[in-house]
Amino acid sequence: MERVIGIDLGTFNSCVAVVESGTPVVIANRGGYKVTPSMVAVTEGGKRLVGHIAKRQAVTNAENTVFAAKRLIGRKWDSPQVKNAIQTCPFHIVEGPHGDCRIKMRDKVYSIPEVSAMVLQEMKLVAEDYLGEEINKVVVTVPAYFNDNQRQATKDAGAIAGLDVIRIINEPTSAALAYGFGKNIDRTVAVFDLGGGTFDISILEISSSGVFKVISTAGDTFLGGEDFDQRVIDWLVDGFQHEHGIDLRQDRMALQRLKDAAEKAKCELSAVTETEVNLPFIISSARNEALHLQRLLTRATLEELTADLIDRTVQICELTLGEAALGKDELEDIILVGGMTRMPKVQERVSKFFQRDPCKGVHPDEVVGLGASIQGAALVDETHEMDMVLLDVTPHTLGIMVVGGYFEELIPQNTTVPTSRSKPFTTVRDNQTAVKILVLQGESRRAEDNELLGEFILTGLRRAPVGQVEVEVTFEINADGIVSVHAKDVETGKEQSITVTATSGLTEDEINDMMVDASDYAVTRREDEASEQVRQEAETLIAEIERLFPDVEQIVAGSDFGRDAIDKAKGVVDNARTLLERGDIAGLKDELESLGRTQRMFKGVVGKSA
Ligand code: AMP
Repeated sequence: MERVIGIDLGTFNSCVAVVESGTPVVIANRGGYKVTPSMVAVTEGGKRLVGHIAKRQAVTNAENTVFAAKRLIGRKWDSPQVKNAIQTCPFHIVEGPHGDCRIKMRDKVYSIPEVSAMVLQEMKLVAEDYLGEEINKVVVTVPAYFNDNQRQATKDAGAIAGLDVIRIINEPTSAALAYGFGKNIDRTVAVFDLGGGTFDISILEISSSGVFKVISTAGDTFLGGEDFDQRVIDWLVDGFQHEHGIDLRQDRMALQRLKDAAEKAKCELSAVTETEVNLPFIISSARNEALHLQRLLTRATLEELTADLIDRTVQICELTLGEAALGKDELEDIILVGGMTRMPKVQERVSKFFQRDPCKGVHPDEVVGLGASIQGAALVDETHEMDMVLLDVTPHTLGIMVVGGYFEELIPQNTTVPTSRSKPFTTVRDNQTAVKILVLQGESRRAEDNELLGEFILTGLRRAPVGQVEVEVTFEINADGIVSVHAKDVETGKEQSITVTATSGLTEDEINDMMVDASDYAVTRREDEASEQVRQEAETLIAEIERLFPDVEQIVAGSDFGRDAIDKAKGVVDNARTLLERGDIAGLKDELESLGRTQRMFKGVVGKSA
């Protein structure tokens, strides 16, 4: 049976999990961390860095280090979210060729799916290192409130990374899956998911027969930890401007340091009631004096600064309960997901709203990835040991634009997916051979307020008098939440294939080119890893030999044979050092055997005399 991994592609951190012998486990990366920062950077030398290694150099390479790409995925260049990101991000966001936005690192422009693909590819490598086999199939999670463009773009990211995304599932649903899997429970639960960039709330019924049914879902794809950080940044920047008359927002490096400090302070305030933000030499004054930023932030101030953000999550919870037609007392458990739910005020407000304490024992950073791995294993399971049914809903209403610029609903929000609806279209003129249809997603009555998923033109209609040609158009949402459209001439039964041209998506050619780049990188990355291993092994052996040197010298000083061996050992070490300095990995690899032999001999000599 082919293995499937589950990836929680988070705004700030990503997590990969797999089911082993029926148990889902999170896979740690090489550094031993169970989550990997969703960060990508390109160094001055053109080297790509992903994860912790990218995060570590973010301050000194702020312009070429991308974080929170998920907030931009599937977004249009002229959207308010992109405008906001341009204001606040230290990296360069530029206009793409399809009305999309892209990111420039060094001299290359990357599409957002390409950046996300780099993170997915890293998680694939983490899994492959652990499992010792190549992985091709994956289940990726997305915020429940993602629209079709965002889902499609996430799928593209998977393809670029060389992964077959066999299913996209919603993050809260995934968390509920990990929570309820194998427990044989019948329970109605709410999943409150406040992560780095997005907020989702889903209400689900879990049944002991293994059915996980989402009743309603709502959220905000631009409400998360980063907004909390931004409030702290603004507070710090405004205070600094007041004191020194200098706007730190103009300095990319200062902005990146502020971002780190704000996030750190926010996290610390989940455990303590006050913390000091201390950023020495943040900027120079007009007279070239170094200025420092130092300010005490209390938990109470943080709560004040972010009160409206927490209020908004609660309002959305209220809406969702209404949609589900459920009272608070009908919920039997509240599952908290996402790093931001560690903030005491968030927990307090959630408990107060739902009138019960959230459940403990679910790890907020790992539960989404675990759920994705369970879904992945279930999709390929032939033994029926993992039998379960996941019934999710569409978070947005799907419809089309009609006369007057209005939005006509076809599939209402919170409809269980997969689903499809058909709609007849008739010609409005004699001999009309084409009809243009705009497909949108959203809740507004006015079409222009909703997200345009794409437009298509029904062509090749039979020439006939007005109203005599009836075309039945079927709109479908699959289990991934992705929309597709088909059309049929009712009289002739002739099918028309329609491609909805996504207004900000990538073309197939672009995806193919990006796939080639990504697979080239995978080869380089594996080679780099192999080189690093040789280098580390050589350095360890050299250090060990040098540590034993004085003892060995003392022990064998009296014998010619001993001196000979010592000279030889010195030669081996010197040679290895030169190869290391030259970066001659192939030569170093050949030298490993001599180094190993010398180290064993030294150990033997010291061991015998002890
Ligand atoms: P996630 O997207 O679930 O990885 O959540 C990441 C967000 O959680 C980031 O905004 C973090 O700053 C935030 N976070 C992580 N730990 C804490 C903490 N102890 N207190 C408050 N926020 C936290």
